[in-house]
Amino acid sequence: MTAYLCESAWLGGADAAGDVLVEVADGRIASVHPAYDGPLPDGTTTLRGLVVPGLANAHSHAFHRALRARTEQGKGTFWTWRERMYGVAEALDPDRYLALARATFAEMALAGVTTVGEFHYVHHGPGGVPYDDPNAMGGAVVAAAAAAGVRLTLLDTCYLTGGVGRTLEGTQLRFGDGDAARWAERVDALRADLGDPAGVRVGAAVHSVRGVPPDQVPAVAGWALAHDAPLHVHLSEQVAENEACLAAFGRTPTEVLHDAGALGPTTTVVHATHVAEHDRTLLGAAETTACLCPTTERDLADGIGPAAALRDAGCALALGSDSQSVVDLLEEARGIEAHERLASQQRGHFAAGELLAAAANHACLGWSDVGRIATGQRADLVALDTRSVRTAGGAVGAALAVFAATAADVTDVVVDGRPVVRDRRHLLVDDVPRALADAVAAVTW
Ligand SMILES: [Zn+2]
Repeated sequence: MTAYLCESAWLGGADAAGDVLVEVADGRIASVHPAYDGPLPDGTTTLRGLVVPGLANAHSHAFHRALRARTEQGKGTFWTWRERMYGVAEALDPDRYLALARATFAEMALAGVTTVGEFHYVHHGPGGVPYDDPNAMGGAVVAAAAAAGVRLTLLDTCYLTGGVGRTLEGTQLRFGDGDAARWAERVDALRADLGDPAGVRVGAAVHSVRGVPPDQVPAVAGWALAHDAPLHVHLSEQVAENEACLAAFGRTPTEVLHDAGALGPTTTVVHATHVAEHDRTLLGAAETTACLCPTTERDLADGIGPAAALRDAGCALALGSDSQSVVDLLEEARGIEAHERLASQQRGHFAAGELLAAAANHACLGWSDVGRIATGQRADLVALDTRSVRTAGGAVGAALAVFAATAADVTDVVVDGRPVVRDRRHLLVDDVPRALADAVAAVTW
C-alpha cells in the first residue's frame, strides 16, 4: 500500500476537493479521502497543486512528431502536408521507429498522458515487403511505450487502398496487407507474440473509407468485436473524402460505416469534422465515441468539427494529439470550446469538467477502469502546478486545468501507482529533448 496526499484534486464536476488522501494498492486506488486531516500512512508522497486523472491521448501517430516546425513553409493543404509526412514514413525502420516513438511517448508522459492510442499503419518494409517478423514495426511501438512508462492501445490499422477506388502506391505500399483477412492474420500473430503484457492492449482500426473498401470493413469490425477490442476509424476529416465517397458509393463515409456494422459503443471515429446532421444522428444513436484533435485540425486547415452537436446527438467525446503539432491534452480540451466559440460567436458550450473528462477518456481505448480518481480505478494521477505564471491566481478547479494550465504545468505523473514523472523530470528517459532531437534527425533531411 502506498499513498498520495493531494493538495487539491479534481474528483468530477467543476470544483476541486482539498487535502485528498489517495491510497493505492496493486496499482489501483484503494480509497479516496477528501478533507483528510488524520495521520499520514508511512511513505505518503505529497502532490502539490491540482491533481487530475491521467490523461488519455486517444489518437496518436507517433512518427508525425518528426514533422513539427518542418512543414510550415509556403501555402498548402492537408494533401500537400501528407506528401511531407510520407517522406518521414519512408525513412522509418524498426529501430528508428522505436527511438522516435519512445521519445514522443516520453514527451506525452511529461504532458500528463498515461494512455496512448497509437493509430499504427506503417507495417512493412520499403515497397511493402514484410520484415522477417511481419510485426517488427508494431513491436517497436510496444517497446517504445514500455520504455516511456505509458500505457498503450496499439490500434493496428487496416489500410488497403490509396484513396477511394485507387491502389496503394509509393510509400503507401508499406501500409497494406492486401485484404482484411490477411490484416487479421497478421494482427492475430502480433497478439500471440505479445502474450498478455501489463499496460498493452491491441485494438483495431479502419484507416478510413479512403483506405478500406466498404466490402472489407465488416471483417475488421467483426475482428474487433470478436476480440472485445476497440475499433477506431478516421472519419470525414476532409470534404474531399466525403465527395469521393458519395461519388463512388452514393453514401457518406458515416453511412458506409453504419451499413458495414462498424458503428457502436466500442467504436471511435476520429475527427468527424465534416459530418452532416444525419451522420451525427447515426453516430449518436450507436453511442459511437467521437475523438476530436483540434490542434491538428487547425494545423492542417481541416475545419472545425461539430463537437457540441456530436455530444448532443449522443456521442461521448475523446481527444487526440494526432499529428503531434502540439502535445498537450489540456490545449486540445480548451480547443474544443474555443473553436465552438469562434464558429458560433457564443461562449459556454461545454462545462470545464466535461472537457477535462474528455481529456481523460481511456474507455475508448479499451481501458474502462482508468480516467477518474475513484476507488477501484487504476491509480493514474497527474499533478498540475497551480502557482505558475499561467495558473497563479485562478480558482483551483476544472476550469483552471482546462482554461489556464498547459502541458508545461504538469509536475508529477503516476501510472498504475508508479511514478513516471517527478518535478517535471521523466524518470525513465533521461533527456527527453535530446532523445527527440536525435530521433527526429534520423528520419529527416
Ligand atoms: Zn490520424
